[in-house]
Parts: sequence; C-alpha cells; structure tokens
Amino acid sequence: MAKCLNCGTRFDVSTVRDEYEEYVGDGDYDGELCAECAIPDLESNLNLGHAIMMMNGDEDYDEDHVEKWL
Ligand SMILES: [Zn+2]
Repeated sequence: MAKCLNCGTRFDVSTVRDEYEEYVGDGDYDGELCAECAIPDLESNLNLGHAIMMMNGDEDYDEDHVEKWL
C-alpha cells in the first residue's frame, strides 16, 4: 500500500491507476496521491485545458465554461 502525499490515506496504487486511466484515458498518474486527491485535481486541469482550447478556437466555444475555468 502507498500513502497519499496530500491527505495521508493509504491506497493501492494499481487500483487508483486503473480509476485514473479510466477517467483520463491515458496513464500519467505518478502514484503519489489517492484517488480522491488525484482525480479532483485532474478534473480542474482538464476543465482548464478545455477552456484554453475554446479560447484558441480548437473546441466549440462555451462562454459559461470559459468564465468558470479561466
Ligand atoms: Zn489523498
């Protein structure tokens, strides 16, 4: 078992990696955070990424999303 660097919860790296990969679709999970700590971060990063792509015209523009995340 690994210990989360953020909250100290003990977790199983391979289980969290599976959840992470299911959520993101690829595996850049570093094995240092539990699911609760790794995945909310991930969600805000993904949403920020989408907002930037919208600003660049790479994705359909969604004003509410851009205002919320940028
Ligand atoms: Zn944690």
